Amino acid sequence: MCHDPNDIFIGGRCRSFFEKCLNVGNIDVVLFEILHLASRHRDLEAAVALLEQNVPIDVESTLTYGVLNVCLGDEVKASEAFQQFIQHHDHLHSERVRQMCNELEWKLSWYHPEQMDTYANTLKYPNDKVIKEPDCAYDHDPFFDRFCNACNVFWTARNVCRMILGPSMMLPI
Ligand SMILES: [Zn+2]
Repeated sequence: MCHDPNDIFIGGRCRSFFEKCLNVGNIDVVLFEILHLASRHRDLEAAVALLEQNVPIDVESTLTYGVLNVCLGDEVKASEAFQQFIQHHDHLHSERVRQMCNELEWKLSWYHPEQMDTYANTLKYPNDKVIKEPDCAYDHDPFFDRFCNACNVFWTARNVCRMILGPSMMLPI
């Protein structure tokens, strides 16, 4: 069994077993690998391509896929993913989604992303008939009430982008 995350990274002693799970699309293994690809290698394109196989079947993969596409600046794919999420799983403003967003940011923090400036200008939240930048996004008190369930996904996308791509995406506080 692998207890050290380094064992499953490239060159690690459990990597071949990990890759077998990856090749059959194991949901947890894919999620682990894509967060590693996005944060440590800053290879968002590879992360998104790998994650796509579990969208929209898996709830966490679908939300993460939408968020990573916001970071990549692909607002069409991000909007499609969020719409699929709504159709198959839950509305974006639920408490469950808020918890999932917190978990995504927490998991990303495990990788101690370097916060480089690469991609810093690509972030684009969808703005179409279905998925829009929330009206309240900038109305909250930055110290006591930074966001609500209505703007939670928007801020998580920005936070994830900042963690992966650069300090210029930091929250306005
Ligand atoms: Zn809000």
